[in-house]
Amino acid sequence: MCGIVGYTGFQEAYSVVVNGLKRLEYRGYDSAGVVLEVPESGFYIAKTKGKVADLVSISQSFEGKARIGMGHTRWATHGVPSDKNAHPHLSNNGKISIVHNGIIENYDTIKKILTDKGYTFGSETDTEVLVNFIQYFMDTDPALDFSEAVRYALNEVYGAYAIAVMHRDFHGELVVARLGSPLAIGLGEKEYFIASDASPFVEFTKEAIYLEEGHMATISLDKGVDIRTIKGNERITPAIQELKLSLEEIEKGGYEHFMLKEIFEQPKSIHDTLRGRVLVDEGIIKMAGIWDHLERFSKADRIIIIACGTSWHAGLTGEYLIEEYARIPVEVEYASEFRYRNPIITERDVVIAISQSGETADTMAAIKLAKEKGAFIYGICNVVDSSIARISDAGSYTHAGPEIGVASTKAFTAQLTILSLIALKLGKHNGNLGNAEFMKLISELETLPKKIEEVLETTHGSIKEMSKNFLEVSNFLYLGRGYNFPTALEGALKLKEISYIHAEGYPAAEMKHGPIALIDENMPIVIIAPQKGHYDKIVSNVQEIKARKGKVISVVNYADSRVSKMSDYTIEIPDSSECFSPILASVPLQLMAYYIAVYRGANVDQPRNLAKSVTVE
Ligand code: GLU
Repeated sequence: MCGIVGYTGFQEAYSVVVNGLKRLEYRGYDSAGVVLEVPESGFYIAKTKGKVADLVSISQSFEGKARIGMGHTRWATHGVPSDKNAHPHLSNNGKISIVHNGIIENYDTIKKILTDKGYTFGSETDTEVLVNFIQYFMDTDPALDFSEAVRYALNEVYGAYAIAVMHRDFHGELVVARLGSPLAIGLGEKEYFIASDASPFVEFTKEAIYLEEGHMATISLDKGVDIRTIKGNERITPAIQELKLSLEEIEKGGYEHFMLKEIFEQPKSIHDTLRGRVLVDEGIIKMAGIWDHLERFSKADRIIIIACGTSWHAGLTGEYLIEEYARIPVEVEYASEFRYRNPIITERDVVIAISQSGETADTMAAIKLAKEKGAFIYGICNVVDSSIARISDAGSYTHAGPEIGVASTKAFTAQLTILSLIALKLGKHNGNLGNAEFMKLISELETLPKKIEEVLETTHGSIKEMSKNFLEVSNFLYLGRGYNFPTALEGALKLKEISYIHAEGYPAAEMKHGPIALIDENMPIVIIAPQKGHYDKIVSNVQEIKARKGKVISVVNYADSRVSKMSDYTIEIPDSSECFSPILASVPLQLMAYYIAVYRGANVDQPRNLAKSVTVE
């Protein structure tokens, strides 16, 4: 998510920085900014909501006078996309400027301390808190070296970041640090580059240092690159890497497609969705959107979930979750049907609207209708400050990071994660979920990123191999029960979206009411059958399929013995509570759809006829 670029050397810093930002545009962002150190006059800052092209139209280059500078593309997490919230941010004394990717989780505590000491803030960002925190250490000890002050401040914050900082009195110096977000340093002849990935500087140098987690570097033309640990200030000898990748490969992080990259990002994206929201030690879920409106939810006659496509599948899983744990009646509706069928909506209804882009036209129109009738609207979006986020009364961002592949993957599992949080929070609040069970479930939620990592590691190779067997198939059936009925729908949608093979998802028990007529030796059937849930029933369904010679691909737990024995192909996932199994089971289904599509020669990132953000009805 977002991008950082910096430069010190003999070239015009403005051009290097701005062209570098353009190279990072694929990451998705909402604002852009640049800071240059201009000899004799200090910092020049230009920043704006919008694209790099908008930044270019409002900024100037100083015609080669400025040789050091930094730039940023922002993907808002704290505060709406606006000129004020755009980076770079300046400290109160105007001497320190910062660009930051990520989230400072304890920013509000630090902000309070600084406000009490008289510091002021012009933006809503966590970033502006950090830059003033650095100033605070320098104010407290005027003899303190700049990079030491940065180190002191970083030792007090937690969260995820890649930062780059400049100080007016420490000419020619760039201080960078990383924890959780990437940062690369390009080593040129009498010039240095910094960037979120190597794409901004690959045309100038092939030598780079990828800053490690918990490390920081002070970079200047005089002293070179000095790398230290943030914690202990121990000096590190960096590994210099030779860049062999092409520009395009770098943008995709070495993956062949954005979709594959995004599938592999899921351990991180789910971690980011949960970050700061699940406090296991305190035994609470802290999610502002819900927290502030618990009564509204609890008093609701029913919850109506409206969405389209993949988000609708997430909504269906949300119905199982909320009804099981919070015991509030839930209806799930296609936004397009809801808005045109004259639905009954009252002021006592809560509407949850789900959309990755936050711009889905049908969902937007359905929200407007529900709003007119007085319902309370809760938005679940990935894109900050999107139209749906703005029109909703409250909501939660999924924080999955920009999703570029048209077929949604990481945004879907992030939506499931948010819906799990909502269900558990409401259940705990209204007393339907006991404390012991609540504690067990929230602790388990925290293990999901690790489990997904395990799924990716253990299934990737075999799914890639297995997928080659289905390239000539024209129909697929996906079956699941309970929580994994929506998983079956989503698995089928993924396959048809990108491989153009017809696929249908069905509740496993419904098979005998129709689809069973299609089954023969040419029909692959994906069965999602984790142990918990309706396992015995699924075993019978598999037997029915085998009796008709269907080819079974099963997604089962490690301990499975019965379904896997009858399966032609088995994909194993770790055990989990039934309610979280859709998150784990979706991952191998995404991989399978991906590889079948790739082997069939399809354009997986931009499948024909589909768009990422569906802004038409
Ligand atoms: N948390 C920061 C903000 O909202 C940085 C977001 C980013 O990574 O671009 O401004």
